[in-house]
Amino acid sequence: MTLERLCSICGTRLEITIDAAGAYVGGQYFGKISFPVPDTGAYVKVGEFRLGRRTYDVVDWTGTKREFEYWECDACYERRETEDVVGPTDRSPE
Ligand SMILES: [Zn+2]
Repeated sequence: MTLERLCSICGTRLEITIDAAGAYVGGQYFGKISFPVPDTGAYVKVGEFRLGRRTYDVVDWTGTKREFEYWECDACYERRETEDVVGPTDRSPE
């Protein structure tokens, strides 16, 4: 099975080959990222958490969320590993 995806950093077209065991080659997969679509909802407070002496609000987005798969090509992945560039931090649990 072959998938076509784009590198999320440089836009290179990736050809991902997945074998019967589920292993893949051709790119690096980091999971799905979701983010709120503007003007479709609002942030509502659903709880609080404490970190040290401060209390922070936990919020949820009431509107539409868009989801996409985050892929990187091997070149960007290796550059990130060696240059310590910050990658995606918003990995929502599914
Ligand atoms: Zn790339």
